[in-house]
Amino acid sequence: MIPFLNLQALNRRFEDEFQEALRRVLSKGWYIQGEECRAFETEFAAYCGVEHAVGVGNGLDALVLILRALLETGRLQPGDEVLVPGNTFIASALAVSACGLRVRLVEPELSRFNLDPQAVEAAIGERTRAILAVHLYGRLVDMPALADIARRHGLLLLEDAAQAHGARLGARRAGAWGVAAGFSLFPGKPLGALGDGGVVTTDDSELALTIRSLRNYGSMIKYQHDRKGGNSRLDELQAAFLRIKLRCLDADNQARHGIALRYAQGLDQRVLCLPEIPAEVEIHSWHLYVIRSANRDALQQHLLKSGVQTLIHYPTPIHRQAAYRELGNLNLPITEMLSEQVLSLPIYPGLSAQQVDQVIEACNSFAVNEPEFSV
Ligand SMILES: *Cc1c(COP(=O)(O)O)cnc(C)c1O
Repeated sequence: MIPFLNLQALNRRFEDEFQEALRRVLSKGWYIQGEECRAFETEFAAYCGVEHAVGVGNGLDALVLILRALLETGRLQPGDEVLVPGNTFIASALAVSACGLRVRLVEPELSRFNLDPQAVEAAIGERTRAILAVHLYGRLVDMPALADIARRHGLLLLEDAAQAHGARLGARRAGAWGVAAGFSLFPGKPLGALGDGGVVTTDDSELALTIRSLRNYGSMIKYQHDRKGGNSRLDELQAAFLRIKLRCLDADNQARHGIALRYAQGLDQRVLCLPEIPAEVEIHSWHLYVIRSANRDALQQHLLKSGVQTLIHYPTPIHRQAAYRELGNLNLPITEMLSEQVLSLPIYPGLSAQQVDQVIEACNSFAVNEPEFSV
């Protein structure tokens, strides 16, 4: 069986360095808000090309803390509306809802699976104050277009970069386009801890300071509380592990890119709709390699029988979830169509060319009996 993801193998590469990091943290006996977290923050900020990075507990909290800090500093008001892509992971929307803000779902476009700038502009209403651009599957949203829309309409441009560590357009990486960006460091993400973790990037010093305070009980000085904050911190051990893995992130993204190219060359494009390979100025982090099929469920079954494990990102759109029943009347045909057609194939460093070819062969042997794909 070719597993969808092999985290044991991925992390085994760093075992000796992890052991050394564990010894270092153990010998210091300092586990929260220490040198490792500060060093990771400095290194990740430099990697992304921004002034500040703030380590937090997870990716959802990274987004929540950005929005809470914008509320605290008066740049958002309760009840303001945030534009969110309809086909994203639910956490993007949950962050908005958790802060007493309103979610407005917007359709993606099919070439990138990302927010359609035209649909964004059409969705802007009276109460719209921000755009949450999600770099879904690791591909950057058309950020120059969104930055232009945000500027013309006076909106805050924010990034959900939970799947896009290291993705870039020209020299500018995910995390360096918006007012602030939230990253997840969940184990399966392009930069993953050995547990939960998250990080916020921003060039805005006031925002960074506010988030530092909010993640730590609203306190910068012990037992002095300026705000009603929470507790969401990146611990020393995870930060130490992440520093090791960060050094390998570009190479890992390159390895996934190589697999994407091999898929693009081998898969039958008459029957399967493949993700666009970006031009050379753009780096895709290929968190997921997502194809579309008119007969997706049968294809997934066929692949499983052929020894290939796949997943669906995501099978039920946000407005079809019980948690968002208030959005149940929405009509988002592209989002809904995608939820029925998308299938994620294995893509990770360590997946051999031979295994990739096995996936290709399994897909193409299904495709033989299928009509041409034409949506
Ligand atoms: C993973 C993910 C999140 C949430 O990150 P966690 O670390 O799991 O809380 C948010 N948005 C997107 C797009 C994600 O993929």
